[in-house]
Amino acid sequence: MSTEFVLTNVQPNGAAARDVVIRNGRIAEILPHGSRPFPAGTATVDGEGLLMLPGLVDAHTHLDKTLLGMPWYRNDVGLELIDLIENERRMKRELGIDPARQSAAQIERSVANGTTHIRTHVDIDTEYGLAGLEGVLASRERYRDIVDIEIVAFPQSGMLIRPGTVDLMERAMREGADVVGGLDPSGVDRDPKGHLDTIFAMAERHGKPVDIHLHEPDALGTFAIELIVERTKALGMADRVTVSHGFCLGMLADKPLARLAGMMAETGVHLMTKGGAASPRPPVLDLTEMGVKICSGSDGVRDTWQPFGNADMLDRAAIVSQRNDFINDVHIELALRLCTHGGAHTMALEGYGLEPGCDATFVLVRAETPADAVASRPVRRAVYRKGIPVAKDGALIAA
Ligand SMILES: [Zn+2]
Repeated sequence: MSTEFVLTNVQPNGAAARDVVIRNGRIAEILPHGSRPFPAGTATVDGEGLLMLPGLVDAHTHLDKTLLGMPWYRNDVGLELIDLIENERRMKRELGIDPARQSAAQIERSVANGTTHIRTHVDIDTEYGLAGLEGVLASRERYRDIVDIEIVAFPQSGMLIRPGTVDLMERAMREGADVVGGLDPSGVDRDPKGHLDTIFAMAERHGKPVDIHLHEPDALGTFAIELIVERTKALGMADRVTVSHGFCLGMLADKPLARLAGMMAETGVHLMTKGGAASPRPPVLDLTEMGVKICSGSDGVRDTWQPFGNADMLDRAAIVSQRNDFINDVHIELALRLCTHGGAHTMALEGYGLEPGCDATFVLVRAETPADAVASRPVRRAVYRKGIPVAKDGALIAA
């Protein structure tokens, strides 16, 4: 592919047909289709009237422990969080879950589905040490020309309750992790202040963001978010802190919800929601209207917790839509925005979008509008990263 070419006749975000001039991996110009003849010899690619969306952003997944490509795993696990965590730790060894091999399997699926940016949580614990991180780092390097991957050091088995974990987290941050993770400060670690002080101090030391899995319900979850907001404010970490799941936001009456959402919006604490069917639902529309920044992600894709998931962020936008009773186009497009600009904002991506000057990183699908793309989940006709085609007709072009 030459360093300059014109992608003709595409519909950016469903707008009227445009010709997009791409130069040195970036969008140089966007012109009404056919409005300007290009000099003889200009390389062109026929966009066939396809819908153009910015590259999809999976802002929360677990690349190190997917079972994609492995034999079917019969799930007989209990439903308590601790059952799932302990079973998974055992199964990693019994099933031979190789973080490098498994992350590669999901990355290839994700890119073929139009995902160009991934934030993955990677388990750090005293049993497997940094094995998950090392495997995902290897895959990040291997696929660096087709996808951007951000790694969260995630204390899946608990942090303060398992001595040695904090030291491993520190090492993970030194050895390539980009974000400090956390997990249920009260529910798992039994010490909300200790847990949050530890991870925020680590984030401050390394100059990195924070992303906390928070499954805690009602008042307990509310208390955790209040503590997170306090620390975000004290350290000036606006837009660098994410609460993942935040189920308590789906369990509150209007007044306490408005109070908590107001605090999150004011301090720049983001929310990640996946719209899961079995868990309380943070109300995406209400929270957006209250100013909370929201992103979405696949979370676990076919793992020992549950067998569902396909690493498809258009599918995720449909799940978020259905979980939030979104039926209007404008609301469905909001759900899709969680999977594009929402994730880009949480991950602080530079050059993201479909404006001149942005990276030429985008997806082409046969759909009339963005809402149609969410409802239909058509095959990804083409995926480009920085002006280079990386997937075509739902398959990777080259690994
Ligand atoms: Zn997760």
